[in-house]
Amino acid sequence: MSTRILVVEDEEKLARFIELELEHEGYEVSKAFDGRTALTMATGEQFDLILLDIMLPELNGLEVLRRLRQDDGNNTPVILVTARDAVMDKVSGLDAGAVDYITKPFAIEELLARIRVALKMHSKMMDLEAGGALKDGAADGGPVESAKDGIFVWNKLVLDEKKHTVKYDGHEVNLTNREFLMLRTLLENKDIVMSRDTLLEKVCGYDYIGETNVVDVYIRFLRSKIDEVFGIKMIQTVRGVGYVIKSE
Ligand code: CA
Repeated sequence: MSTRILVVEDEEKLARFIELELEHEGYEVSKAFDGRTALTMATGEQFDLILLDIMLPELNGLEVLRRLRQDDGNNTPVILVTARDAVMDKVSGLDAGAVDYITKPFAIEELLARIRVALKMHSKMMDLEAGGALKDGAADGGPVESAKDGIFVWNKLVLDEKKHTVKYDGHEVNLTNREFLMLRTLLENKDIVMSRDTLLEKVCGYDYIGETNVVDVYIRFLRSKIDEVFGIKMIQTVRGVGYVIKSE
């Protein structure tokens, strides 16, 4: 079965160009030229990946992404296409649940590489959620403190790997897959300072080609969802090195 990609791009010539390149790589491509059509297609059909331009008529890309994730519970990997230097778009895009972003104008090779990584990462995530891969931390050096039945505890925070839930003092914390994986990695390696590179490898995979500052972005999201909400200091920054969660 071929991999289906939805290309959402209002510049029809560019959309056509991307379509041809992707088809050349063996992907099956559908196109949408505005946000509303994109949302209808993405919720009505099954795609393996969505390439989503932010500047779109009807609904912008970020809004499409939010509605997909929040209203529809759809977790198809989304790569956002942003304008040059639109830092805020990148951050809100990752926050809204995009797996990656690419800046216009881009080389088609870069786009193809990011698509490959996103697809691979998504299937890894699916394995993880199904209780497969990454379950055994011993393979990469071993966790210092092995979690009992996949449950990690810090203060009043409980991360349950099997249920894929995080609770603080009984209050549920909603995390994206990558935030969850980041938190789990830090909890599993309690008291060990994790470098940005290590976290990036753990969370995004060895072949991730993006920038290491995505680690800082995810840490910021975790802090805003946990530390700030519950008034605690769980994740410590080790200047120039990385991040650590210390035993209490
Ligand atoms: Ca556009």
